[in-house]
Amino acid sequence: MKEKIWLSSPHMGGAEVRYVQEAFDTNWISPVGPHIAAFEEALANYNDISHCAALSSGTAAIHLALIILGVKAGDEVICSSFTFSGSCNPIAYQGAVPVFVDSERLTWNLDPVLLEEAILDRQKKTGRKPKAIIAVHLYGMPAQIEAIMDVARRHEIPVIEDAAEALGSTYQGKKLGTFGDMGIYSFNGNKIITTSGGGALVARNAAWIQQAKFLSTQARDPAPHYEHSHIGFNYRLSNVCAGIGRGQMEILDTRVGQKRKIYNMYRKALENIPGIGFLPEPAGYFSNRWLTTILVDEQQAGFSAETIRLALEAKNIESRPLWKPMHVQPVFKNVPSYSTGVSEELFRAGLCLPSGTNTTEDQYLQIMETILKLQVTNPALS
Ligand SMILES: *Cc1c(COP(=O)(O)O)cnc(C)c1O
Repeated sequence: MKEKIWLSSPHMGGAEVRYVQEAFDTNWISPVGPHIAAFEEALANYNDISHCAALSSGTAAIHLALIILGVKAGDEVICSSFTFSGSCNPIAYQGAVPVFVDSERLTWNLDPVLLEEAILDRQKKTGRKPKAIIAVHLYGMPAQIEAIMDVARRHEIPVIEDAAEALGSTYQGKKLGTFGDMGIYSFNGNKIITTSGGGALVARNAAWIQQAKFLSTQARDPAPHYEHSHIGFNYRLSNVCAGIGRGQMEILDTRVGQKRKIYNMYRKALENIPGIGFLPEPAGYFSNRWLTTILVDEQQAGFSAETIRLALEAKNIESRPLWKPMHVQPVFKNVPSYSTGVSEELFRAGLCLPSGTNTTEDQYLQIMETILKLQVTNPALS
């Protein structure tokens, strides 16, 4: 069997081992140490935001954001339906109720018009406003974040921006994760940069980030012994992982450039196949193109996204359906949702193509050949 081609695998820049070695040399092998503050500073500077807490995962960052915003059992929190479960599981950790809102077609992200309808309808039905909004930027593509923030401000609901997949993306030149009241990033293994596992919370509000650091290190009150007046979490990033993060920050913009080149290469090779569509960047939107995604119109193409996935899989090449919307997940079947069918349609017709920055040109040729061959062998078109 040929060597597996992954969807998107970790890609070190070279400096990471030096930082990790430094952690070993100084014996800071723990969730305290100098790399953590340095990684936070690098991340805050990159995104042009004042405050940052490095955490054990993006999911932990969302959980802490909800706690800091005062989300409690029985509260409702609006979340993009078209996302990965890490976006919304923390709502359930708080005993709160997720309310899922569908996507629009321009960016595939949270529909600002439907968002406002949902807010008004929740108020009518429950007599209360949703406590927070989690807006996701999927696959690196910015959501209509200004329109979303307008709706949120009008209704005075805080926004947590889930930029787990969108580090390095911008809207009107401003980095994603910095539009909302708080923003989160993920450094899981397949994200654009990785710390093996990790995440971060950013905000302009210093007190919130201070609270996040406090809660993420077991909420110890100042005392020589262990004194607690809050429930804490073990959510801090380790100094070793922060060392990896420091090295990865040095090549983040290089990776964004590479990811965008991969998207352009696929687009050039495949966009003339009838029935295959790409997600273009509207003016003012800049995507890190974390994963190249396509939509396949089966009628027009004569084959489906699943046919492509299976053809690639037969050659030991990983591709993946788009995220299955949360409002159709069995675990969330009883929660309120506002759907237009857009995300379900994207899920049915979409595919994430292998988008690794360490995948070779030869391997990419193999991937594109496999897809192009489906077209040639389609009897309906011959
Ligand atoms: C990866 C991801 C998360 C969660 O991040 P982890 O670090 O894996 O906990 C949240 N939201 C989205 C959209 C993601 O892709």
